[in-house]
Amino acid sequence: MDGRQYEIEWRGSPNFWKGRRGRRPIAIVNHITAGLMPGCPSWMLNPASGASAHYLVARDGRSIQLVKDEDTAWANGVVNRPDWSLYDGSNPNPNLYTLSIEREGLAGDGLTEEQYQATLWLHRQLVDRWGIPVDRDHIIGHYRIDSVNRPNCPGQGFPWDRLFRDLERGDQTMPESWKLNIVKEAKEEGIITSDHDPDGSASVWFVLAVAINVLKVVRKMLGVASGNGR
Ligand SMILES: [Zn+2]
Repeated sequence: MDGRQYEIEWRGSPNFWKGRRGRRPIAIVNHITAGLMPGCPSWMLNPASGASAHYLVARDGRSIQLVKDEDTAWANGVVNRPDWSLYDGSNPNPNLYTLSIEREGLAGDGLTEEQYQATLWLHRQLVDRWGIPVDRDHIIGHYRIDSVNRPNCPGQGFPWDRLFRDLERGDQTMPESWKLNIVKEAKEEGIITSDHDPDGSASVWFVLAVAINVLKVVRKMLGVASGNGR
């Protein structure tokens, strides 16, 4: 995780219902467009398609929002032999209580690294914003709702294990023991005087670690130059 903030471009689709008929988003549904830019957003912006999603993440990591979270996108309204414990048969349109993310790609494609990072970031935003639990009932693929006509959405290339691992780990990508060592060394070197916030952003840790190493290299060079062989 590089701590990067992503910008999401707004391109409103006409294909949605205002509001959610009293429901709220309880799950995220992942899709693949089976088409490439620039055609795939055009399709979802075209009233004739009758299709949309809340978000589209392109292969270069750029993201577009087409429908507001509070409104209902038309992404997975057809239910066909679902395999999803949260499917509410009494209110059969899953669009009313899901957020849908399309990913640019052809059938069977994996995600580019940029696309993966943007997808991970977007999941984190939505999980936080809507209090969505990180588990395999609340973050699913389209095939769980329509196993007959959408068995390959989002397809074999979708990195479920990596996504769940990263979401469960949160933003902490550096092991605690590394951080403790960095703090200890930085204090010894006089770079910092007090303990660093362990929840600080990854970039702060990176800067500290680099500063320590630069100091070591400089000291070594000076030591060699002055011939004291320290
Ligand atoms: Zn789909």
